[in-house]
Amino acid sequence: TVDDRADLHSILRTTFGFTEFRGKQEEVIDRVMAGHNTCALMPTGAGKSLCYQIPALARSGTAIVVSPLIALMHDQIRAANAVGIRAASMTSADSDNAATAQALLAGELDLLYVAPERANTGGFQSLLTQTDISLFAIDEAHCVSEWGHDFRPDYRQLRPMLDRFEHVPRLALTATADETTRRDIVRQLGIPDEGLIVAGFDRPNIRYAISARGNTGKQITDFVTRNPGAGIVYATSRAATEKLAATIADTGRQAGFYHAGLPPEQRAAVQAEFVRSDDMVMVATIAFGMGIDKPDVRFVIHAGLPKSIEAYYQETGRAGRDGDPAEAQMFWSANDFAKARQRLDEVEPERLPSEQARLNALAGLVEAPTCRRAILLRHFGEQPDAACGACDNCENPPQVIDVTETARKLLSA
Ligand code: ADP
Ligand code: MG
Repeated sequence: TVDDRADLHSILRTTFGFTEFRGKQEEVIDRVMAGHNTCALMPTGAGKSLCYQIPALARSGTAIVVSPLIALMHDQIRAANAVGIRAASMTSADSDNAATAQALLAGELDLLYVAPERANTGGFQSLLTQTDISLFAIDEAHCVSEWGHDFRPDYRQLRPMLDRFEHVPRLALTATADETTRRDIVRQLGIPDEGLIVAGFDRPNIRYAISARGNTGKQITDFVTRNPGAGIVYATSRAATEKLAATIADTGRQAGFYHAGLPPEQRAAVQAEFVRSDDMVMVATIAFGMGIDKPDVRFVIHAGLPKSIEAYYQETGRAGRDGDPAEAQMFWSANDFAKARQRLDEVEPERLPSEQARLNALAGLVEAPTCRRAILLRHFGEQPDAACGACDNCENPPQVIDVTETARKLLSA
């Protein structure tokens, strides 16, 4: 109704301070408000959180949000609390789970974040039987699928809980889902086909370039010298992050490094420094970036092959969230592929076909002489223009060696 619509807009304005819904947010929220099971597929930075937060505020009861990582939950809770949303998590890292359970039962929470492992326990579900639940949000829903890049078996076990509270609408959210993964997600979670809402994956302000790796240190210092603004360099090892950061700092540019081997205080400090800075280069392993809200990242460099097209899209997607021009530059070598293929030896047999397909798709992207954006978007099931005009291959079409000419010369010799 008109009243509901006005309510949703006023929550958007008063709670979040935004004037307009973006992209498909409103469509997703409308479906959830109507009580329909829904899967929102939107790129990183599109604003998926809002899609469950607004219904959570507009409907009575508490939204149960399933999330894969405690660090992600805590970031979300901090952001939600900052705008006056009553949010909490129940995890092994929280000391006051009993108090949170009390608050849940008393109807004092808008959002409760849990990991799937906890959601699937009988104890948690019996708590839910005494709770007014507004909706289930399954964040990072690609974890449901073995085809996704972050498969979590406990995500796959969520279905019995969802079915137990059948009248509660469920909303799956993900940024990374190719055709196979997305069909798997909706099937696993019991979402009808018409409940799948797909927002465009194109990030028109990002320029993509992929080149062969030579002297990594020199290529990267050359790049950062040409490109002002804050940027992220993804390195392939912890040692490499420290070494590259030192090389960049030698040019006079502010540089920091980040990897999972650092003490938490040091990680938090360098991350905070990066978020504040408009010129710093952060050299990091892929441990860096999830849940970081920095709109003005001007470039993302891969100093080696990413894990998959999905990972590449997600990592490069951290550039240019403010909509201003940004660069995504990858340096790769044949040796990266050799190593990746070696790692396939350790993969469980049932996962081997999907891992191989993932690596082949990545090879298709880096070796292609054609538009990078078109390859990325086709990978996500879109039908893009053949040429974007804003990637290395569109700007400088690679020389395709003319074999017929060579053959003619050989024959006439
Ligand atoms: P996702 O989960 O899709 O990666 P988030 O939910 O973390 O994205 O949101 C990314 C950023 O976009 C956040 O800073 C959020 O506040 C902002 N945002 C979300 N919706 C809107 C909107 N309608 N207008 C302006 N900014 C928005
Ligand atoms: Mg998110």
